[in-house]
Amino acid sequence: MSVTETRINLFDLDEDRMRAFFESMGEKPFRAQQVLKWIYHQGVTDFSLMTNLSRELRGKLGQVAELEPPKILSEQLSQDGTTKWLMGFGGGNAIETVFIPEPNRGTLCISSQVGCALNCTFCSTGAQGFNRNLSTGEIIGQVWQAARALGHERNGTRRITNVVLMGMGEPLLNFDAVIPALSLLRNDLGFGMAAKRVTLSTAGLVPGIDRLRDTIDVALAVSLHAPEDRLRESLVPLNRKYPIAELMRSCADYVSDKHKRTVTFEYTLIDGVNDHPEHAKKLVKLLRRLPSKLNLIPFNPFPGTSYRCSPEDRIRKFQSIVMEGGLIATVRKTRGGDIDAACGQLVGKVLDRTRRSQRIREQSQRA
Ligand code: SAH
Repeated sequence: MSVTETRINLFDLDEDRMRAFFESMGEKPFRAQQVLKWIYHQGVTDFSLMTNLSRELRGKLGQVAELEPPKILSEQLSQDGTTKWLMGFGGGNAIETVFIPEPNRGTLCISSQVGCALNCTFCSTGAQGFNRNLSTGEIIGQVWQAARALGHERNGTRRITNVVLMGMGEPLLNFDAVIPALSLLRNDLGFGMAAKRVTLSTAGLVPGIDRLRDTIDVALAVSLHAPEDRLRESLVPLNRKYPIAELMRSCADYVSDKHKRTVTFEYTLIDGVNDHPEHAKKLVKLLRRLPSKLNLIPFNPFPGTSYRCSPEDRIRKFQSIVMEGGLIATVRKTRGGDIDAACGQLVGKVLDRTRRSQRIREQSQRA
């Protein structure tokens, strides 16, 4: 095995792991703080530039470690300022990362897996099939690369103020790599973001939500999309394993914790499928006792789907019913649609190991 293959990528280490790494080298643990600041505050990945480390330590790091972020393969800029990057990790796989600027914040949407194993029927990532989990370094490296591409702006409108794990993949199915990445987002030695500025979105993996509650403080988003099991199963197959009642129990526990937490429910509005006034009324019954917000997302079409977006007036009607019922509900503005950067449109480059994408292609050819 060559030396490079045995090198440890320091992007994979959160503060605890970085300390353990330096201790294992016979170094003082505070080296972890110095190196983290170089990486995340200064944007430096060249050990020889880390001038507060001894020359000897810099040399040693160069032999046993590396700082390898994902590679930016392409960048697309939408008319509305949304930016989408295709980021690659070698081996032919690539994921997408999206920056969404708004007047008072800049949200970066990152991916946690190459593809997705859950097969939600209205999501184009699902139709791509699944290849593998991303490592911690590949997850946090998206933020590092985007920050660099945006010029590490500390002020102005192209600064990353919020991070959402709403890109490709189901983050709670990649728990062990996602948690250290969340910890680097929260840590002052990393990106130093407040808990409410870091959002993990899940399709409803109940054991994962329960574990998350006891592990780290971040904002939770749950992709609900239907107020009843039968309908939800047809949209989010995972519902067969974790039905709505169990999901609600888990969400209630998440917010009832000692921390002041909130949960946001995401509800993609699909024409004639889940956008009837009856659905809105059922949603009110389901959510009104839970401290939560509802985010209504107009369905974004993608090639090969037969679903359509609900018409504007039905979206407004849906919103007014849930708000009259006492819920806090916003309609998500579609951003980056002209560059396929909107919710559910991220496809990256997935060397599908599940053969799902092939089956879907064959089915549509037969049809
Ligand atoms: N697996 C996680 C995170 C990725 S999806 C989850 O399910 O939450 C991020 C959000 O985009 C989810 O709420 C998802 O339901 C929504 N979404 C997926 N496809 C969409 C589409 N075609 N139009 C609008 N929203 C979509």
